[in-house]
Amino acid sequence: MTPRIWNARLRATPFRTARQTPAADSPRCSRLATPTRNKTRFRTATMAVAGGAMLLTLAATGPAAAADINLYSSRQPFLIKPMLSAFTKASGINVNTVYIKKGLLEKIRAGGVNSPADAVLTTDMGRLDELRQAGVLDAVQSKILSANIPAHLRNPNGLWFGLTTRARVALVSTDRVKPGDFTSLADMAAPRFKGRICIRSGKHAYNIALIAAQIARHGDAAAEKWLRGVKANLARKPQGNDRAQAKAVYEGVCDIAMANNYYLGKMVTNKKKPAQQDWAKAVRLVYLDQNGAGQHMNVSGAAIIKGTRNKAAAVKLLEFLSGDAAQKMYAEINHEYPVKAGVARSPLVRSWGAFKMDTLSIETIAKHRPAASKLVDKVGFNDGPNS
Ligand code: FE
Repeated sequence: MTPRIWNARLRATPFRTARQTPAADSPRCSRLATPTRNKTRFRTATMAVAGGAMLLTLAATGPAAAADINLYSSRQPFLIKPMLSAFTKASGINVNTVYIKKGLLEKIRAGGVNSPADAVLTTDMGRLDELRQAGVLDAVQSKILSANIPAHLRNPNGLWFGLTTRARVALVSTDRVKPGDFTSLADMAAPRFKGRICIRSGKHAYNIALIAAQIARHGDAAAEKWLRGVKANLARKPQGNDRAQAKAVYEGVCDIAMANNYYLGKMVTNKKKPAQQDWAKAVRLVYLDQNGAGQHMNVSGAAIIKGTRNKAAAVKLLEFLSGDAAQKMYAEINHEYPVKAGVARSPLVRSWGAFKMDTLSIETIAKHRPAASKLVDKVGFNDGPNS
């Protein structure tokens, strides 16, 4: 892509902010101007912005059509580019995507009523609910979205929609935990697992959601008793990411790692870092609460931004992402679960077995997130087992 095309492109669309119009001779611009793959419709480039790296993907050809849409995504390019390409092919609608690692809400807010974004793709009920509470989302009524996405996986007023689900599972030692021994969230607090559990920070969104689900299901007092029990069972202070917990099982630090299911998929298939394949071999995925409420689930999802100038096209994108083709791609690429009934899971995900999902409304769980965060502080969860 040449700087000339870049600038022409930005003038031709409503998707323009100061941050996207570097001087043509600036080093940033020359980096942006470096083409990646000539035959692809999209070009990807990196630009440094306050608060983290941001990737910008632009449709490379011609002036913007009226139906072009602008997408903010905190989902990674490798995951959504194939689906966006398929959408453009099917609909003729180009998608200009800004990849944002941090500060999604701030960037939407910074745009005010003239926010350049039409739609947003992100992960975790917390981020979706944060956008809802901030009042930056536009309600959508769509028969296709209602039909494709179960009611408990979307906002009741059409403010956000779950597009995939992910399970926060136990990855247990194949050697040291017998099948059937660790089966539930209640087991996380059972005295026989003292000193055997590893988990990341209690303040991480994945754990806040898990604890919020416990509050929603069992009430404040029971959730507090449970969390104190979990804390007492920790092998070490909460630390690291989800994969680091599986590594700790591999190293014998603990016997049970709490992690999102797709990280096992990422470790199993990791050719760049084969050590992670060893971590994966040390663990067995256990879906929890199969004799009770079912496995706690979280979502990735999408929403329309208030003030969109292309709502019809943006809704079409969401509908496409909830359809069979995109749902299958999601399932294959990131080892997640499609939300649409009847779409096959990937062979690897299927190899972990069928399971019962908890169908507690994500909206309901998300409402208990502030209480979950307070509870983590109250019990001193991140101080570790000996505090
Ligand atoms: Fe993750």
